[in-house]
Amino acid sequence: MRIVLLGAPGSGKGTQAQRLVERARIPQISTGDLLRAAVARGSELGRQAREAMDSGRLVDDSLVLGMIRERLGEADARKGFILDGFPRNLAQAHALERLLASLGKPLDAVVQLEVDYGELVRRIAGRRTCADCGRVFNVLTSPSPPRELCPKTGAPHRLIQRPDDNEATVAERLRVYDEKTRPLIDFYRARGLLRVINAEGDVDEVTRRLTQALGARSGRAAPATRATARRRARSSSARRKPTRPKPARARTKPAASASSRSRASAPRRGAHKTLRLAGATRRRRARSSKRR
Ligand code: AMP
Repeated sequence: MRIVLLGAPGSGKGTQAQRLVERARIPQISTGDLLRAAVARGSELGRQAREAMDSGRLVDDSLVLGMIRERLGEADARKGFILDGFPRNLAQAHALERLLASLGKPLDAVVQLEVDYGELVRRIAGRRTCADCGRVFNVLTSPSPPRELCPKTGAPHRLIQRPDDNEATVAERLRVYDEKTRPLIDFYRARGLLRVINAEGDVDEVTRRLTQALGARSGRAAPATRATARRRARSSSARRKPTRPKPARARTKPAASASSRSRASAPRRGAHKTLRLAGATRRRRARSSKRR
């Protein structure tokens, strides 16, 4: 499977990607991690990337694209990958699309992790990373289990806070996300690849929502699912007396506000209501025909 995890800093892309790695046995490719490694090595790439990273801006596209091309060419990425933190703007999204088309391996899904702004700030403040294995923890929401040892060193995790997780840089990173990365939601929705999940709450629950979203056939499946619900509602309303109102159908067409549009591919939201309402109507009819 070839997946992109889309979401603001602190939305849990890294944590969820690490969990998917274990389940799907495909690598997580995080451009942030690759860039931090380059900085730590003191390579030329790291030297060029550092200033932008320290101030919360995006690193130059040409550097990031060169790095991602190289990484996607490695053997472990052949059977699939989870992109975390890439693409981050439209130019990168177009470049990725071209690159994958040339390899004959287009994306299967893009999952957007939705988290409220205040919660993002809170999560980033609590985020800690193991300096040795790179596992991400959060002292507030998902602390390192007390006796868990680092798989790299066999010793307890050495937790560090990322230098760019400070207040001023975080505000800039969130602003950059809104300006440059958020437009990718529409980009991928237009391609039928987008799925949106609520990424707040319990980490295990978010993983469950994520795997469920990936289990759904594709972003294109969302309208199909609503269509299925409409077909069922229609067949149940065909059995209804013609004078009955049709509450269920009206509910399946929510106003297209920005937030409802961004959730458009959340599976079966309207469908649940439709089916519940149709079921209630059937039960009422069964009761009244028994009385007759
Ligand atoms: P992250 O770990 O994904 O939050 O990334 C940390 C920092 O690395 C970002 O604030 C950017 O400065 C840089 N970075 C990571 N991924 C990208 C990307 N795809 N394009 C440009 N800069 C990136």
